[in-house]
Amino acid sequence: MSSKIRLTCPDCGQTNQFPADKASAAPKCGICGHALNDGKVAKLDLKTLEKMAKNDDLPLLVDFWAPWCGPCRQMAPEFEKAARQLSPRVRLAKIDTQSNPDATVRYNIRGIPAFILFHRGREVARLAGARPATDLIRFLEENLKRVG
Ligand SMILES: [Zn+2]
Repeated sequence: MSSKIRLTCPDCGQTNQFPADKASAAPKCGICGHALNDGKVAKLDLKTLEKMAKNDDLPLLVDFWAPWCGPCRQMAPEFEKAARQLSPRVRLAKIDTQSNPDATVRYNIRGIPAFILFHRGREVARLAGARPATDLIRFLEENLKRVG
């Protein structure tokens, strides 16, 4: 029995479906060829973020940031480090709240950087403030254990 998993392309927004055992084998988008799960931090717009949060079968951690936010820029390398370490189990992505101001309203973001973990169509947990990769990884492990 092979179950299927769904992953939205962070680049073109297409929902891709493939056998679950291919999830860690560098899957690519069937439409645009963009990597779907390569351990890199994808840049999202609000529409794609909403689609990923709702439909995707892998946990998704999103960094709400802005170019004017010093702590956000400072911790970007830590977020990238966490993305490499958590791949292919979890996808990490970021959304620029300056270009996508609707995202702060939609997700009720009061300060940045802020991180929201989505899994199976809903928000699982959130975390605020800049922090090292080890803290992000611990936050994810604890919350994913809790939701199973
Ligand atoms: Zn695509």
